[in-house]
Amino acid sequence: MGEQVNQVMGDIPFALDHLGVAVSNLQEGFKFYQSLGFTKMDIEEVPSEKVRVGFLNLANSCSIELLEPMSEDSPVAKFIQKKGPGIHHVCLRVKGIRGVVESLKSKGVQLINDEPRIGAHNCLVVFVHPRSTGGILLELSEKQDQVGSS
Ligand code: ZN
Repeated sequence: MGEQVNQVMGDIPFALDHLGVAVSNLQEGFKFYQSLGFTKMDIEEVPSEKVRVGFLNLANSCSIELLEPMSEDSPVAKFIQKKGPGIHHVCLRVKGIRGVVESLKSKGVQLINDEPRIGAHNCLVVFVHPRSTGGILLELSEKQDQVGSS
């Protein structure tokens, strides 16, 4: 696994990790992907974001993450109320997330959480506000077993 990640990352410290898609209901949201030919969805709860997520693995070590709000005050519930279901965020895998956060803060980039928190797959994640990215809610993620190793 570690080797595969290193191979994917190479010299470039960023890789597309997943696309986050807001859905009202995971099984309902999964139906379209089943018609497309997907057979498996790995479901996980992410208490820090008050969502249940379903991962659809793609061939290129990237995935689609369906996000179902677990409560009305979940950020994803608010997103669906405002904009309806659809693309919610883009996630880039990074190396040395704390360094990236410090660098962004020093440049005045607006982060939703300054301190990385535990996301799906036990990764450390921070979200960058769409105001600072040109309209995309950007998730930066680092696998915990990589933290501090770079
Ligand atoms: Zn995500």
